[in-house]
Amino acid sequence: MVRELVIGVDIGATKTRICLGDFDGNIYEKYVYLTSQASPNIVKFIISEVEKNFSHSMKDVVGIGVASIGPLDLRRGTILSPPNAPFRNVEVVTNLEGAFGIKTFLINDAVAAVWAEKVYGLGRIYRNLAYITLSTGIGAGVIVDDNLLIGKDGNAHEVGHIVIDSSGEMRCRCGGYGHWEAYCSGINIPIFVEKLLREKYASESRGSSLFNEHCKGGLTTEVIFKHAKLGDKLALKIIEDEVGKLNAAGVASVVNCYDPEIVLLGGAITLNNKELVINPIVRHIDRYLTNRKPIITSTDLGEDVVLKGAIALVAQPPQTLIEYYRRS
Ligand SMILES: [Zn+2]
Repeated sequence: MVRELVIGVDIGATKTRICLGDFDGNIYEKYVYLTSQASPNIVKFIISEVEKNFSHSMKDVVGIGVASIGPLDLRRGTILSPPNAPFRNVEVVTNLEGAFGIKTFLINDAVAAVWAEKVYGLGRIYRNLAYITLSTGIGAGVIVDDNLLIGKDGNAHEVGHIVIDSSGEMRCRCGGYGHWEAYCSGINIPIFVEKLLREKYASESRGSSLFNEHCKGGLTTEVIFKHAKLGDKLALKIIEDEVGKLNAAGVASVVNCYDPEIVLLGGAITLNNKELVINPIVRHIDRYLTNRKPIITSTDLGEDVVLKGAIALVAQPPQTLIEYYRRS
């Protein structure tokens, strides 16, 4: 039997994953690297790792799907200058097709993830869905009436830059103020929480293990959630009623714009803290919604959701992406 295999690549701000899978979304071999280790010449790194690890099966590989943090130039198949990554202007499609002679697709990582949900995940039975990643940054992919949204430059999904606080002083890495990502992304949660501890909650900090950790310096998102899980009242209050409320405002804005039947949340922050992320969103969202409340839950494809999306690009290329290439 002829096997139709796919190489999937997930280039994230922190980790890069490369796998060998098939059209059904099965992953046979997977290698995980630190993106910093794979940079700055990340395409050269991917080519050498694929040659090293998958040479035994390359004759059966019919496509390569690459899902990457943005911004991307979809027309040229290039990753531009991601604010959270150590590389610039990476010509992915030209170089991979040149190296292997295999059709290669490139798309934003969260857009790939929503495609994975549609092809392999909980989104299979819905025509309208949104996938939102809460990770180093905040991103999304959206499908409306079974169409994967692309946009004029391939950026129809940049929900991390929705303004959730117009009077906010928190500045996003993109340069804008009050953006969702400036408060609730993995990079920015510690900055936001330190500001709250210094200002709004300064009088409530006595006895708080989170505050004691803050005094020692070096709060991280992981540490903040850890104290909430351990039951520190201040940490819980901040996670549920500050970060959680802003996440609810962000998710509500996505629902109000795109009217999905289901919103799937993923990314390391969600996957590591499912209840502390999902429950506050569900609890706070009604006050921000105008459209009917959708199902809000976490992805069941776990940390492989983006890789599976990269595979799904090859297995079932989205019609809107094909049309986008045709027009370009
Ligand atoms: Zn921004």
